[in-house]
Amino acid sequence: MTIDAVALAQDLIRCPSVTPRDDGALGVLEAALTPLGFVCHRLRFEQEGTAPVENLYARLGTEGPNFCFAGHTDVVPPGELKGWSIDPFAGTIHNDRLYGRGAVDMKGAIAAFVAAVSRRLAADGPPAGSISLLITGDEEGVAINGTKKVLDWLAARGETLDACLVGEPTNPKALGDMIKIGRRGSLTGHLTVFGAQGHTAYPHLADNPLPRLVRMLAAITEKPMDEGTAHFQPSTLALTTIDVGNPATNVIPAQGKATFNIRFNDAHTPASIESWLRGCFDAVGGAYELDIHCSGESFLTAPGPLTELVAEAVETATGRRPEYSTTGGTSDARFIKNFCPVVEFGLVGQTMHKLDEHTLVSDLTGLSAIYEVILQRVFTNLPVLTSPTASIAGSNG
Ligand SMILES: [Zn+2]
Repeated sequence: MTIDAVALAQDLIRCPSVTPRDDGALGVLEAALTPLGFVCHRLRFEQEGTAPVENLYARLGTEGPNFCFAGHTDVVPPGELKGWSIDPFAGTIHNDRLYGRGAVDMKGAIAAFVAAVSRRLAADGPPAGSISLLITGDEEGVAINGTKKVLDWLAARGETLDACLVGEPTNPKALGDMIKIGRRGSLTGHLTVFGAQGHTAYPHLADNPLPRLVRMLAAITEKPMDEGTAHFQPSTLALTTIDVGNPATNVIPAQGKATFNIRFNDAHTPASIESWLRGCFDAVGGAYELDIHCSGESFLTAPGPLTELVAEAVETATGRRPEYSTTGGTSDARFIKNFCPVVEFGLVGQTMHKLDEHTLVSDLTGLSAIYEVILQRVFTNLPVLTSPTASIAGSNG
């Protein structure tokens, strides 16, 4: 029995699983995986102050190595419904394109992978190892009750992943453009600068914090943080808001605030960034408070056997050699990299999170064909994938 990637993607899109809702999406997946022989574990996690979230871990086989496909069935809200030319949750095909929220990010890729597994099983039977899927319903939201907790649950059971493929949309324009082998980190800083309120006509009786705030922000934005590294583009710092909220024209305010977001490469750690920031602010002087939240550190799966296997599979199926990249936002790969080597390859990202999100039907079947080549090769090569010095054996499948 083989599964049709397009039909499964349509079924998944028809579940309006806007984070944190599941609305039957994981059930659709379970119903596809169970007849293939997967043992499915539904994992519901909650934490005070957050909505409970459904997750799914499914595994075929009990032996190692364990090759894992990771992804998410939750989607971002459709936005202005009036702006859609087709119902975002109908799973409609029009002009050889499958429309719907999640078509690209990333129900399409999940369906492509499950279909690829079904064809491999029909052709060759069970693999010499295990295939697993780690699918969360909490990727587009706060990502507290999702992949991170499933990984902890796996570790507590003594289950290991040996290599992981994340199906996020990675191709800028066409299938075969790009594999992501790492991601930049993301850190948000909240700066508050303190002074003393007073009359603008008597500034010597007040202490205006705003000139210091301006100088502090100038200090962190006037020079690039770095020039980029071997596999990463330069780090960036974007001011996102400056707030004083002072409605009076004759009052010096007591404080001013600013928020900024830094996307950083492997030249930095959250600690090194914090000490650089404090150094800049201390040089300006005065009282300030700095709150820092890091939602993910930068990471890199150094080019090697796993990245090469995926790149070669893409080239075999599409005739195009994909670029290795670390661009873009964060993904759940930031959690998985602590457990095993991880690379990302999925659909074309052009319409993700937009109105009229859609994928070419031919991209969906093309991605499924690529995943099939990966599966074909992965079990002859997986034992060496985690060894950085090993080369790939017999990848002529
Ligand atoms: Zn996504």
